[in-house]
Amino acid sequence: MFDNINIILVGTTHPGNIGAAARAMKNMGLSQLRLVQPKTFPHAKAIARASGANAVLENAQVFDTFEESLKDCQVIFGASARLRSLSWPTFTPKECAKHVLDHSGQIAIVFGREHSGLTNEELEQCHYLVHIPTNPQFSSLNIAAAVQVITYELRVNGMAELSHKLPSPVSSEVMNNFYQHLEQTLVDIKYLDPDNPRLLMRRLHRLFNRTELMDSEINILRGILTAAQRGIEK
Ligand code: SAH
Repeated sequence: MFDNINIILVGTTHPGNIGAAARAMKNMGLSQLRLVQPKTFPHAKAIARASGANAVLENAQVFDTFEESLKDCQVIFGASARLRSLSWPTFTPKECAKHVLDHSGQIAIVFGREHSGLTNEELEQCHYLVHIPTNPQFSSLNIAAAVQVITYELRVNGMAELSHKLPSPVSSEVMNNFYQHLEQTLVDIKYLDPDNPRLLMRRLHRLFNRTELMDSEINILRGILTAAQRGIEK
């Protein structure tokens, strides 16, 4: 169960937090841990705080870049302690769990740095944010506590088996190739001024991420872009 759900910790500073997150995961029946540029890993403090969830730590995959860690993931949630300036679709942990459980493909739930969370560029790669409702004057949980709350909801909601699964959306690699093609085409047709791009691409990411495109749909969109590019060459 939950083998398709990857918990990704980005830039974690304290090895103890990595161990505590591994423990929280194993408590809730998750095992797939990915670490992006952990400051100190492996470390005795991680093993100590894992309190027996050693296998989760031993099997953890370590990545140099965020993009690499997400390559095969089809739906990406970013856990965020703050609400952002450009609002992004935001779920409660329960809504996140229900959405995740509807999918059979690879899911990522991403957690940010202890001091600064996730960057705007990292959040842009996420289809949705998940925010644990907290005291607005003191909203940030310890990272392992945040992993605990979100994986708890997965467990509780996973018990109530959902009968229908949605078709799997495409991977983030396919989406990134699409965005590059889209941006180039928008420049070619002079809709996007590369010297003054404003928030256009970020807004388009938000729009397309909401739709969770499938293979056949990406092929149509890429075909339209290619036709538009050919049209202006003539
Ligand atoms: N000072 C940071 C907080 C980092 S806490 C900031 O302002 O963003 C480390 C990570 O734990 C966060 O990046 C987030 O992934 C997770 N987290 C902490 N509190 C959370 C909350 N209330 N809801 C969702 N995720 C939370």
